Amino acid sequence: MLGLAELEKKYKKVEDENWAFRGFLKSLEPEGLDKFVNDMHIELFKNIDCIKCSNCCKKIVPTLNAKDIRRLAKHFNISFDDFASQNVEKSDGEWILKEKSCKFLTESGCSVYDVRPESCREYPYTDKKGFVHRLIGLIEYSGVCPVVYEIFERLKRIYRIEFEDYKKFEWDLF
Ligand code: SF4
Ligand code: SF4
Repeated sequence: MLGLAELEKKYKKVEDENWAFRGFLKSLEPEGLDKFVNDMHIELFKNIDCIKCSNCCKKIVPTLNAKDIRRLAKHFNISFDDFASQNVEKSDGEWILKEKSCKFLTESGCSVYDVRPESCREYPYTDKKGFVHRLIGLIEYSGVCPVVYEIFERLKRIYRIEFEDYKKFEWDLF
């Protein structure tokens, strides 16, 4: 799998193509897509050390729900309101951690791992159903997470012929 420096370079080259591929997947909604993605998720995450990578903790700002805030406040032995005012802000109607490059990330990984927000546990959502409905976020993640990048590369190979036809007839970027 790609290292992070290589991922950044390669993502720049495929970003437009990934957006085109999003259009293709949305228009086709291929049968069995979730299963392909879920199987790749299992295979690829076996071969990567998330603690060593931690790129999502540096580049993606996690969202928090009330339960997350309550759990984290309890962990730090402070009130819900104190934790929220120190660490959380509202963005587009959602609570998010204030700082990008998460303040809870340490050299040895997440310092609040057992009580981390649900969105951190779920990231990058490639083991869930509904891949096709999460594509806007996932395209962004393909430039952050080597697993998501690889999933998109493999899907583009799987649907290569259909995607070429789509680009020829429906996507004027190419
Ligand atoms: S809370 Fe932990 S898992 Fe979530 S972004 Fe911060 S360091 Fe990463
Ligand atoms: S970016 Fe992907 S591979 Fe890296 S830590 Fe996050 S989930 Fe794991």
